[in-house]
Amino acid sequence: MNLMLMGLPGAGKGTQAEKIVDKYHIIHISTGDMFREAMANETPVGLKAKGFIDKGELVPDEVTNELVKERLGQDDVKQNGYMLDGFPRNLEQAKALAQINADLGLKLDAVIDIDVDPAILVERLSGRFICKNCGATYHKLNHPTKVAGVCDRCGSHEFYQREDDKPETVKNRLAVNVKMNTPLIDFYQKDGILHRIDGDQAIDQVFADVDTVLNKIY
Ligand SMILES: [Zn+2]
Repeated sequence: MNLMLMGLPGAGKGTQAEKIVDKYHIIHISTGDMFREAMANETPVGLKAKGFIDKGELVPDEVTNELVKERLGQDDVKQNGYMLDGFPRNLEQAKALAQINADLGLKLDAVIDIDVDPAILVERLSGRFICKNCGATYHKLNHPTKVAGVCDRCGSHEFYQREDDKPETVKNRLAVNVKMNTPLIDFYQKDGILHRIDGDQAIDQVFADVDTVLNKIY
């Protein structure tokens, strides 16, 4: 079984990925790990990628595609199947993946999109705030102060938010991701292998829904 996992930041993709690996022993291939491994092992494509990264340049799509092909051609993938995470990121890469699969005699069985309304994600991702005095970290939803506006640890009344945790920053980051994902979602919907899972449920219920899809394929 070969999968591609999608989801906006904060949608819980990482948690679902772990659960899928636990149950199906599929090979989880995240783009970041794949780059790190290939560079550490000094594979031909890894060295090529390192050349760009060392110069502070973006790794071109052709090199990323080559790296994916190198990784998907390995024995563990043949035996256990793959779950891509972070690739493809655009339509060109999706088309490249189709070609890679064809070349290797593989087939992408399903694209799982953990779907959560961006407005909910803004709430989840922008909730973090920090005590100005002692640095204790809180979250509006998951871990508020015991008394509103008072630090549990030091009693201070002053808090701040990191730039990355501010609602405007989070909104922009999500908008960039939505824009990037939309063509992919359309592409795989047309292909008939897209499964949108309601990610705004308890973690175990989200996994139960994912599992229903995977059971039919496996
Ligand atoms: Zn404090």
